Amino acid sequence: MSINFTTATFRDFENIPEYDMTQRAEIFYDFLGYMKSNGHMNYRLKNNSGCNSVMNVDIENTQKDYVSFVSNDYLGFTQHPKVKQAAIEGIQKYGTGAGASPLIGGHFVFHDDLEKKISSFFGRKQEEAVIFTTGYTANSATLQILLQKEDIAIIDMAVHTSVHEGCVFTNTKTFPHNSLDALEHILKTSESKFRTKLVIIDGIYSQDGDVSPLKEIYNLVKKYNAYLMVDDAHGVGILGETGRGALEEAGLMDKVDFITGTFSKTFGNIGGYVICDKKMAAFIRFQSRQQIFSATAPPSVMGITKAIELVDEEPMWRMKLWENINYFKKGLNDIGLDTGNTCSAIVPVKIGDPNITGDVGKLLIGHGVYTNPILYPAVARKDARIRMAVMATHERKHLDKTLNAFEDINNKLHIAKKFNNNHA
Ligand code: PMP
Repeated sequence: MSINFTTATFRDFENIPEYDMTQRAEIFYDFLGYMKSNGHMNYRLKNNSGCNSVMNVDIENTQKDYVSFVSNDYLGFTQHPKVKQAAIEGIQKYGTGAGASPLIGGHFVFHDDLEKKISSFFGRKQEEAVIFTTGYTANSATLQILLQKEDIAIIDMAVHTSVHEGCVFTNTKTFPHNSLDALEHILKTSESKFRTKLVIIDGIYSQDGDVSPLKEIYNLVKKYNAYLMVDDAHGVGILGETGRGALEEAGLMDKVDFITGTFSKTFGNIGGYVICDKKMAAFIRFQSRQQIFSATAPPSVMGITKAIELVDEEPMWRMKLWENINYFKKGLNDIGLDTGNTCSAIVPVKIGDPNITGDVGKLLIGHGVYTNPILYPAVARKDARIRMAVMATHERKHLDKTLNAFEDINNKLHIAKKFNNNHA
């Protein structure tokens, strides 16, 4: 068996039945060489400057500044002086690490404060919040302990991979992205077959930046006696009148059974959280493997507590972000590029063909713009795109430079036309 490098993506090397791990590593190593040689390696580049809207990046041993759209630091809080100061104070007071898992000595005052902060951010009580060291484990570890082989997870096919990982011990059914009919069909047909039915969706989806039909899904979940978990990693800090996210916008903040999220995007740090009923929270705190066997986040997470406060204290960052999103999206659409259904800071330029997408990524680098070409398995094979995350700290000149780059590339590669042809 041989793999066609021109059409392959990373996932194709995960399991090749006739190759053992050494053979798979060898052929993948050759594939990396192929990607580098054709300039399609926008991945794992070395950043010398932090999550800024302009990043100094090392490409083939040359360090240059690029306008960057690869960071989910939407409000720019990783660089906010007050957030940095709070993180520094955490390190000065407590040192650099927490030294243990929360259950056996790694739960500190600052972790407790963070639980208080994030629960009250959502209008809940501290007993209703559990924090994790990443957003990934907030999802995967919580689901692993909640759902067993008698239960079923009903999952929108576009949810984050951490949700799928959390469902390895239970039954799963996925429904086409945002399809209410398909969801209802699964709920109806699984009604008496499973002990617990948990529907899992995102507030804002990470590759398209589009929103869930939250109210309709909530109504279906109630109708069929199921539970609802919403991961709003990309909506919090951005959507809603006070920045509480997609659930605030849908009026459901106090209604869904589980809210999950991350501290690594809007809040500019590391970690994740689950908000749920207090008894459920206690169960997760004492039963989840990660809470028992994996170390808690370091004292620098004291920066998160400040970042949460800043969502209320400095709403101008959210306003600036929306100004940038609207300006940028309109500029791309005026060129004829397809940005899908985004209604968040995630702005995709949908291209379709993975090779052309790789070429666009490479040409953007040539124009001084750093983006992520997104291929299968993050999206369907025919749905490759350039994914960009707009930040409050992008200046008009950064957005204009990027729009000019897209216009130039579109004149050369006719990506707007190609996308329309492919999907006609
Ligand atoms: N959920 C979603 C929707 C995400 O996009 C991500 C990260 N990309 C995560 C969870 C995981 O968060 P973290 O980076 O904090 O592990």
